[in-house]
Amino acid sequence: MTTYFAQWAWRGAEHAVANVRITVANGVISAVEDNASKQDGDVAIAGVVMPGLVNAHSHAFHRALRGRTHGGAGDFWSWRTPMYEIANRLTPDSYRELATMTFAEMALSGITGVGEFHYIHHNTDGTKYKNPNEMGLAMVQAAQRAGIRIALLDVAYLHAALDKPEPLAEQKRFSDGNVDAWLDRVDALGEGGDGWTVGMAPHSVRAVHPNELEEIVANRHGKVVHVHVSEQPAENAACIAATGKTPTQVLADAGLLGRHFTAVHATHLTATDISLLCSSHSGVCMCPTTERDLADGVGPASTLSAGGAVLSLGTDSNAFIDMFEEARAVETDERLVTGKRGVHSPASLLIAATSGGATSLGWGQHGIQVGAPADFIALSLNSVRLASFDAANAAAHIVHSAAPSDVRDVWVGGRQIVQDHQHLTVSDVVGGLGRAIAAVVTL
Ligand SMILES: [Zn+2]
Repeated sequence: MTTYFAQWAWRGAEHAVANVRITVANGVISAVEDNASKQDGDVAIAGVVMPGLVNAHSHAFHRALRGRTHGGAGDFWSWRTPMYEIANRLTPDSYRELATMTFAEMALSGITGVGEFHYIHHNTDGTKYKNPNEMGLAMVQAAQRAGIRIALLDVAYLHAALDKPEPLAEQKRFSDGNVDAWLDRVDALGEGGDGWTVGMAPHSVRAVHPNELEEIVANRHGKVVHVHVSEQPAENAACIAATGKTPTQVLADAGLLGRHFTAVHATHLTATDISLLCSSHSGVCMCPTTERDLADGVGPASTLSAGGAVLSLGTDSNAFIDMFEEARAVETDERLVTGKRGVHSPASLLIAATSGGATSLGWGQHGIQVGAPADFIALSLNSVRLASFDAANAAAHIVHSAAPSDVRDVWVGGRQIVQDHQHLTVSDVVGGLGRAIAAVVTL
């Protein structure tokens, strides 16, 4: 049992609480005392303690594209070309190494858990590895080396489009051939294990067709389901042309929406789509820095969260790994679209970046509260960004000013993985990222 004594703690309100004692036993928070006195043996934490950031949508290997794909023109569809080149170069070892370093970067940025939307399953010609889950388990091992939790969101990617049943040549390693083969492979992963869980991720309504979505509903066995939804207007147009429905309507008619479901992006929605997601209390995971980078658009986050959808956030393409920026962008991007400020409260943005992600990944309780896993981080106030920290407006100061480099210490399940800005088990994250990316990039 360890007791920490935090100078400040952000616990979900707009303000921070002073002098908070947090007791951890067996990786779980067993007591929280506000406005307390430091006791002998307490571990003092200067700065602000807050719940760990939960990154609900990541493709770890896209980290290799950072800096290499932002300068030119083009759009989401042209960006896929270099992404597919790297996807088809990965081996289990290079995939594991790149993900380890990417997850270590996440840990240094205060991310204590990730939803990895994993779709590189097989050899490049589509044949299976000896263990058909070798690539997925490489993601789990990478997260374990980096010390963070992972929900392995195993992707079904069966078709190139609604009118193209066969995957493209460059998509062959994503496909299990048919939905039953995919379900069997996901079943073989079981329930996950220590620090990892399994979720289902039909990639999009392009890649998994309505009858297959219904089969997923029938075989979900309590798992969360994440789907890329309406990231692009062209995706909506193709879906309407083929089915007469929007992607959200297709998913609703298949019976997929609900508290276990998260629509990733949800950028281009109709009013009916919004009410379907809200009335079913589905989750919506926005990835604003990626949506910006790919010129996708700005989704209706305020309407969705006001209507009852649960908001979470993801770094998606990992061109940035900065959950503070993802959170503030939900508000600031919407300001540009609506001409209004303050459509989201600062606390609600931090909640989306923390417990919203845990809810989306099916992890339940998350926060500085009794019964929650001891996944928390400490922000240093000794930076030019957080100097003159305003505890009364803590959420606003953090969400609108903090950067990943303000994260000084990180604990996951009570185990410290980052101390004084250094990763404790991955010794050279900078060098490791350089080597892992050089091994897969020839752009
Ligand atoms: Zn994605």
